[in-house]
Amino acid sequence: MTYTPFDLSGKVALVTGGNRGIGLGMAEAMAQAGADIAIWGTNESRNKEAEEKLKAYGVKVYARQVNVAEEQEVVDGIDATVAELGRIDSVFANAGIGYGAPSFVEMKTDVYRKVLSVNLDGVFWTLRETCRHMVERAKDGDAGGSLVGIASLAAIEGAGKNEAYAATKGAVISMIRAIAVEHARYGMRANAILPGWIATDMTQGAQDNPAFAEKVIPRVPARRWGEPEDFGGMAVYLSSDASSYMSGQTLVIDGGYSIF
Ligand code: NDP
Repeated sequence: MTYTPFDLSGKVALVTGGNRGIGLGMAEAMAQAGADIAIWGTNESRNKEAEEKLKAYGVKVYARQVNVAEEQEVVDGIDATVAELGRIDSVFANAGIGYGAPSFVEMKTDVYRKVLSVNLDGVFWTLRETCRHMVERAKDGDAGGSLVGIASLAAIEGAGKNEAYAATKGAVISMIRAIAVEHARYGMRANAILPGWIATDMTQGAQDNPAFAEKVIPRVPARRWGEPEDFGGMAVYLSSDASSYMSGQTLVIDGGYSIF
């Protein structure tokens, strides 16, 4: 007998913000493990490019233009994803935006609302609509499902000048815990991933900043930026039956930054 829990053949994973960065890193790993993949993003050409990349792994891929900050687009997106791929076994509520300000007192209300609309409303609607699908399925005798919220170290460490962003990420952890407790009876689990400093478009400014390279990255025990691929293994694990009994957890992937 061979131990094969990480073979995701027959499973479907949805990654919001899956057309680049951490989301694409997770989607690529799950596709390589055999899962059919849905990715959402607002940019049509980036969606198309990522779709082609993922299709090369020989799985079904569905890319859809969805702005997660719009409730109806998320509701329609879940319906369309289920219609296209048959089901959703795991969801990664990953779409997010960063928005720092020179200082907290200069943080404008429209920026605060914008960050909340994508990073919190978007996660809320994505997880709620996926739960609706998974609960209905469980009631039809097909229990199970994995919900993942992508939070941030900003949720648990002081992220100065990023109060709005930090608040959304703390909220993701709280929402995930509540979902985990309520849905365990349906065989569902919910966990949060907290990335550290990861080299993506979101952190381009920090990557280009010499002071950052001098003062922050040397404090990462792994002595390098994280890469989108560093999230592949966790995504495969959380989508696999091997993680069936793990729920409500916050999983830090940061090269040791937060414990140093
Ligand atoms: P990127 O900026 O590289 O990618 C963001 C993704 O989200 C893109 O695919 C983008 O697609 C999508 N997106 C943005 N807004 C929306 C929207 N309104 N609706 C749908 N999709 C949207 O970011 P990362 O990969 O770095 O970040 C991914 C997640 O990880 C985020 O939640 C982020 O907060 C979190 N994170 C990142 C860290 C890092 O160091 N990079 C650290 C901690 C947490 P499109 O452009 O097509 O809309």
